Amino acid sequence: MAKKIDTHAHLGECCVFGLYATEEDILRRMDESGVDATIIQPYPGATDYHQRHDEIADLCARHPGRFFGLASVSPHVGKDKYQREIERCVKDLKFVALKLHTIGHAVNPLTEDGDLVFATAFQFGIPAMVHTGAGIPFSLPALCMPAANKYPDLKIILAHAGGGIVSAEAQVAASICKNLYLETSWCLGEDIRWMINTIGPDRIMMGADLPSNVPVEFAKYKALEIEPAVYDKVMGETAIDVFKLTW
Ligand SMILES: [Zn+2]
Repeated sequence: MAKKIDTHAHLGECCVFGLYATEEDILRRMDESGVDATIIQPYPGATDYHQRHDEIADLCARHPGRFFGLASVSPHVGKDKYQREIERCVKDLKFVALKLHTIGHAVNPLTEDGDLVFATAFQFGIPAMVHTGAGIPFSLPALCMPAANKYPDLKIILAHAGGGIVSAEAQVAASICKNLYLETSWCLGEDIRWMINTIGPDRIMMGADLPSNVPVEFAKYKALEIEPAVYDKVMGETAIDVFKLTW
């Protein structure tokens, strides 16, 4: 059976959004819904991103093949510090991507600090996931188009694919820039169908964001009654390709 991959999850605390996700909750929700592997990152409001990255690496080591790490650091810490931590995450901890949190880290993708995130992902050969949706104007999907054009070989994943309210813009951006990918947590079911039909299942990926939202996202995809080959792609095969996941 095709693997099911949740491409968007967080471990630990978030002082920005007032959230907390425990390992027990995450594993229980994965088992309930039949998620084979989860790509997991610190929250943007992690009080100590260095420590949270170490905890994610430890989680990956204790549950082989069930978790892959994604680095999340505010580029406002400064270029050297930022790049040193991303290098550590990629080379020592074997993380598979990094995050630009437009609202949680207050980063406009069009600024110098925004570019640092894309340039660093490009330099280390990993995809960049960018928060889109709530948090306008920084989180507008179109703000990723200049970076997508500047780094045509960089895969940029629009987290939440515009989150419903600007999902049409995410769809337009991805239709113009072929290196934009859409992770669909919090989108309306019919938005997802629309994206699959226009952008294609090779650039659409399931994500849940929060443990309690894992069964909700599975129910949403099931309700769309999409054909099995397409379902297998968006629920896992595309993510395996995009993040170069290996077991
Ligand atoms: Zn998130």
